[in-house]
Amino acid sequence: MSQKTASVNGEVEQPPETPLETARHQLEQAATHVDVDPNVVERLTYPMAVHEVRVPLERDDGTVEMFEGYRAQHDSVRGPFKGGLRYHPDVNREEVMGLAMWMTWKCAVVDLPFGGAKGGVNVDPKDLSEDETERLTRRLTNELRNVIGPQTDIPAPDMGTDAQTMSWIMDTYSVQEAETTSAVVTGKPTAVGGSEGREEAPGRSVAIIGREVLEYYDYPISGSTVAVQGFGSVGANAARLLDEWGATVVAVSDVNGAAYDPTGLDTRSIPSHEQEPEAVTEYAEETISNEALLELDVDLLVPAAIGNVITEENASDIQADLIVEGANGPTTFVADSILDERGVEVVPDILANAGGVTVSYFEWVQDINHRTWSLDRVNKELESVMIEAWDAVRHEVETRDVTWRDAAYVVALSRIAAAHESRGLWP
Ligand code: NAD
Repeated sequence: MSQKTASVNGEVEQPPETPLETARHQLEQAATHVDVDPNVVERLTYPMAVHEVRVPLERDDGTVEMFEGYRAQHDSVRGPFKGGLRYHPDVNREEVMGLAMWMTWKCAVVDLPFGGAKGGVNVDPKDLSEDETERLTRRLTNELRNVIGPQTDIPAPDMGTDAQTMSWIMDTYSVQEAETTSAVVTGKPTAVGGSEGREEAPGRSVAIIGREVLEYYDYPISGSTVAVQGFGSVGANAARLLDEWGATVVAVSDVNGAAYDPTGLDTRSIPSHEQEPEAVTEYAEETISNEALLELDVDLLVPAAIGNVITEENASDIQADLIVEGANGPTTFVADSILDERGVEVVPDILANAGGVTVSYFEWVQDINHRTWSLDRVNKELESVMIEAWDAVRHEVETRDVTWRDAAYVVALSRIAAAHESRGLWP
């Protein structure tokens, strides 16, 4: 079988703790499989820049509070920086550096002409009124004014930010430029240059990869059983599409637990997180816990809620034959190794949920060209990008005898390294 990700000399290493450690580990791991100049690996170990700003916010009561904001820009050898902007109390310098590196791999695996970035503000968005969120966003945009731009670095929504946040960024930037600059951010409302299909895209790409992996391992989609953890933007869209394409979705969940029906759920009748937050179990005839969902004996398991849910503790109890990662980082480092030893195939997040950044790219292309694509065109183009990426990763799995995760990193690193070697280092 494939090489063990977390095993060194037969001993399982401690899992990397931060996104930066994970991202660096994955780079080192990929570099062992690719004939790449070590100087390029050295360059990719560090972000090109981490911008740190202090954002003053006038609270509704008139007092002023200072917040820390960041924008990490990892690598732009293949094109402008691209990545989310999050408002969350855990945001810090190391986290955005690691997540920016992940974005570099994600963009490269689906062959988008972007490099990775990530940013955010260390703030709990639930503590802000809407007016405060708008003021914080506009001031942050001003502080990052010289480092973002449609040809340099293009933010997108992430945890705690949404289409409205992007609209405020676009407006603030455009006012300062004295021209409407839609392409400075993606994930905007369609009224101001957002793309059709953007919201559904990460779930759609997860479903496409789910369909492909089932077919690859000879599980006909009609008749295959699927469990999906998380019924939000990613999970609900993935579950509904797989259901529509003939799979039997036996369980879906939210933070409160899972709806379960071994004969198959009607996924359209269950409200998604957006339609009615945390209501999955309210309509269910039979419920099980999230822990039990992860251990169901299904053909395909899609963890699409949060990170680190498949761990050293439960990896030996996972009964699914195939896993497609919908969430970012749902499988820990050690769990990955246990699953590999047990022959459970895990298709990684950087491939499976890359539909989000792919349709962000389509949005950017539409904005730059002042054209609007139909939903049908967006979905067709997404399908073709995902299938090309799937084929490239599958090729590495078959020729190098590595895991799907390693294969995805090999595809990404090979493309990035080729661009670095071609452009060279100046001076
Ligand atoms: P969301 O907020 O729309 O939905 C999250 C769902 O997970 C909800 O149903 C919620 O109840 C459930 N949930 C939360 N905590 C849980 C827990 N402890 N156990 C079980 N369920 C829990 O979020 P989303 O946008 O669908 O994102 C889900 C994951 O996918 C995250 O890891 C996110 O980073 C990743 N992701 C999202 C996008 C995107 O554009 N939305 C793109 C790529 C990756």
